Amino acid sequence: MAWPNDLRVGFHLSMAGGPARLFRRYDDRGCTAFQMFLGSPRSWDVAEWSDDWLAAFREELCRRGSPPVVAHTRYLLNLASRHDAVRARSIATLRAEYRAASRLGADFLVLHMGSHPERERGLALMREGLLAALAEVAGPHPLLLLENTAGEAHDLGTAPADLAAIRTQLPFPTGICWDTCHAFQAGFDLTTAEGRRMLEQALVRAFGADGVAVVHLNDALFPRGRGRDRHAALDQGHIGALALASFLRSPLLRGATVIFETPQPDGPDDPAADLANRERLRRAFLEEPSSQTEGTPSILRGRGAARRTVPP
Ligand SMILES: [Zn+2]
Ligand SMILES: [Zn+2]
Repeated sequence: MAWPNDLRVGFHLSMAGGPARLFRRYDDRGCTAFQMFLGSPRSWDVAEWSDDWLAAFREELCRRGSPPVVAHTRYLLNLASRHDAVRARSIATLRAEYRAASRLGADFLVLHMGSHPERERGLALMREGLLAALAEVAGPHPLLLLENTAGEAHDLGTAPADLAAIRTQLPFPTGICWDTCHAFQAGFDLTTAEGRRMLEQALVRAFGADGVAVVHLNDALFPRGRGRDRHAALDQGHIGALALASFLRSPLLRGATVIFETPQPDGPDDPAADLANRERLRRAFLEEPSSQTEGTPSILRGRGAARRTVPP
């Protein structure tokens, strides 16, 4: 289906069982985009796909009109770690993941900001790590996206300014993946029009009108500002589907790729929970008065859906 604001909407999908299974999950959920890992997220091994595997993946992707593919780096990475061994391993794995995402033809590769007890030192290590991992391999495709964090133990990157500071110091292009649960946990109040307006302004100031390429659309299990990274299904958390739909109407997000990372309690092959979330979002768009675009900052007017890097 077509979504408002030229959004592409999909889910984080398991690639277990190969491309045919992956794309069956895609079809079962009515996706127009999707996200996947590049190997088991809890191990350091990066998938080494055979040529046959990749050919099958590309054929399935092509058959569905080449929707945006978001690759997500594993959670073990911490480019800002205090421990040299973890940092070295994170750098090598990020480089391998970038190469894997590139072979896959992914549009985006999402990386969480790391963690470190001292913010300035952590940001410097993050930047050094990104340079060491990607200075020689990264280009516009796949586009590396830095993701905001919830503010759990020493998380870097809860504030847009921190992500912006890293971005401007890199010699290769980057974009932003904005997670609604993490933002809410970091203190941004998405539940009111005023709070959303302030968030929108903060995003424009930090990233410009087209910096946010991907939205992770998650409700939050905990109340605002707690720094707890626990995602909830839409309307089963503290943000709510109506508020999230209002946020997605922002001209700032026109043409963005929206990925649900909401709980899949019955495993990757039962689409029921995902379909329920999709339906809640669809209904919220119908109910939500689309007054959000009134009073849009002039920088955002006329923003085009220019983010796609794959021809439709
Ligand atoms: Zn996320
Ligand atoms: Zn999260």
